[in-house]
Amino acid sequence: MADDSIAVVDLDRCQPDRCNYECANFCPPNRTGEECIVTREERHDEGEHYAGGPDQISISEELCLGETCGICVEKCPFDAIEIINLPQELDEEPTHRYGENSFALYGLPAPEDGRVTGILGPNGIGKTTAVHILADEITPNLGDFEADPDWERVLEAYRGTALQGYLEDLQEAEVTVARKPQYVDKIPDTFDGKTSELLAGVDERGVADDLTERLGIASVVDQPIDTLSGGELQRVALAATLVRDADFYFLDEITPYLDIGQRVTAARLIQELSADDRSMLVVEHDLAVLDLLADALHVAYGEPGVFGVVTPPKSTKGGINQYLGGYLENENMRIRPEAIEFEEHAPRVEGYGETLVEYPEMRKSYGEGEFALEVDSGEIRENEVLGIVGPNGIGKSTFAKLLAGRLDPDEGSFDARLDISYKPQYVEIDRPMRVDAFLASITDDFGTSYWNTEIAGPLQLDRIMEQQLTDLSGGERQRVAIAACLSEEADLYLLDEPSAHLDVEQRVLATRAIRRYTEAHDKTAMVIDHDIYMIDLLSDRLQVFEGTPAERGHAGRPVGMREGMNAFLSNLDVTFRRDERTGRPRINKPGSQKDREQKNAGEYYYA
Ligand code: ADP
Ligand code: ADP
Ligand code: SF4
Repeated sequence: MADDSIAVVDLDRCQPDRCNYECANFCPPNRTGEECIVTREERHDEGEHYAGGPDQISISEELCLGETCGICVEKCPFDAIEIINLPQELDEEPTHRYGENSFALYGLPAPEDGRVTGILGPNGIGKTTAVHILADEITPNLGDFEADPDWERVLEAYRGTALQGYLEDLQEAEVTVARKPQYVDKIPDTFDGKTSELLAGVDERGVADDLTERLGIASVVDQPIDTLSGGELQRVALAATLVRDADFYFLDEITPYLDIGQRVTAARLIQELSADDRSMLVVEHDLAVLDLLADALHVAYGEPGVFGVVTPPKSTKGGINQYLGGYLENENMRIRPEAIEFEEHAPRVEGYGETLVEYPEMRKSYGEGEFALEVDSGEIRENEVLGIVGPNGIGKSTFAKLLAGRLDPDEGSFDARLDISYKPQYVEIDRPMRVDAFLASITDDFGTSYWNTEIAGPLQLDRIMEQQLTDLSGGERQRVAIAACLSEEADLYLLDEPSAHLDVEQRVLATRAIRRYTEAHDKTAMVIDHDIYMIDLLSDRLQVFEGTPAERGHAGRPVGMREGMNAFLSNLDVTFRRDERTGRPRINKPGSQKDREQKNAGEYYYA
């Protein structure tokens, strides 16, 4: 018996009419006559409420031998079973369990009036579940899903913790909640009308005009919602949440599709609202922004879809450092085998430096009075990852089209016509097709051990291969799109915002996949991203775009990381210092001594 393991059956995947109960037939306790895996009908009395069909399986966590056995996990043809040993260090009871053999949440974040509380951790780890509890939409059952929900027991369990005050308030009065959803691309499916109508319907504080101005979306308020770009939708969704008059705001990712300037503005608006004695809870995977934004943070770890643990609050700096280091000190818990390390100078690789392409000075405009781009001459090297930074709407895609020969410059001549494999910022792969069929249609390497090791493994595609493209979550679509881009035969791989909707672990894995792939196969990649950590970890050199979005852009020549970061950050007037312990970049408070010193020295990033 392994009472420290958890068994989760995905009822959407368990299809007993198609498998002959291989799991139960091979389960060692079952073979000695014990009822470890039985049908739900066999386990439960008639009339008793339990989730799932009567023929679907029920696994006894008391009898199960645990993860080291795992025979049923291997036998199930539909990947419906997960058996995971819970960490020994986890000595608490769950806060909530949805039901038998379902996800378990341990701990809860503790929002505080007047503070921004961050949550750092992967998707599928129970963050939304926690918010349902904090909004009084789910009464936590403390793991006993058969008992009637009882807030008194919950209050008793959390007495003396950081959460006691919040939970007591929740009991005494209504806590009003405003939420920003994770996937803003879905907003047009649920709202049909103009931006101004959407905002007018929720503007309880009467600040919509001010917020639209500061977020730079005043020009789109008269447009129908379904004509907005992802970056505009993200800012409209932020405005629509922050104009509400609520006690508790939950913002599930604020940065996808926003450039750095917009990210910093969003962070400031959230901080200002918290200062008005409201509690803000923010899930964010861009660590530089989380660091800037949060007053305290909870790390969430576990096994997505199986169990999640929310730690007690940590300092923002300490929490991020421990997360990157892969070891949570107070919990005595290793969450990743190795640390994520930042190096001051990106590693040089062998063979690096041959020229892939040289291009001349070029100009391109879309017509009289339309957007115009000026490109400095430059070269792209074989086998490098060139990071591309700059605001949205500044001509980055236009530059790529010039390189690909899909656009001709007005001035300058360039006819290399590079074969470019391109992943756009807004991923559009919604076809009635399975993931495996889609990827197999792109490359003959699909399914080879090389492809599995280099692409499918690091991008965690195994569990979604059989799903329909149309059913994928935002992060899953992004990973499939990155895989599709890297699987094409091409001279140059251009990835526009690969970090969007990836959680923080997936960003690390995708970064590694892109780097390893280019290094091992002498490939060249250009990566446009607004996540400074991802750009720092990925890039050998940088190309900086500047100008006035939608009016004029200037593409600098590709330069070294230090020179590039200094040019880019001085445009933004933001400085970063290095954390003394981990070397990770941290945004300086504007006007702080460090900020002033670094600006004087012209060292915006490497001080
Ligand atoms: P996150 O917000 O961190 O992505 P969620 O709280 O949405 O995570 O979900 C955590 C897990 O709980 C997921 O595996 C999800 O499938 C499961 N889950 C969510 N709601 C229910 C439910 N009503 N019944 C059973 N499982 C659920
Ligand atoms: P980025 O990739 O940096 O976001 P783009 O190169 O896509 O920028 O676009 C730069 C500007 O050019 C934007 O204002 C965009 O609306 C405009 N633009 C892009 N393509 C066209 C086109 N075919 N005709 C007119 N304007 C365009
Ligand atoms: Fe049985 Fe547990 Fe082994 Fe699965 S992991 S076969 S339920 S003992």
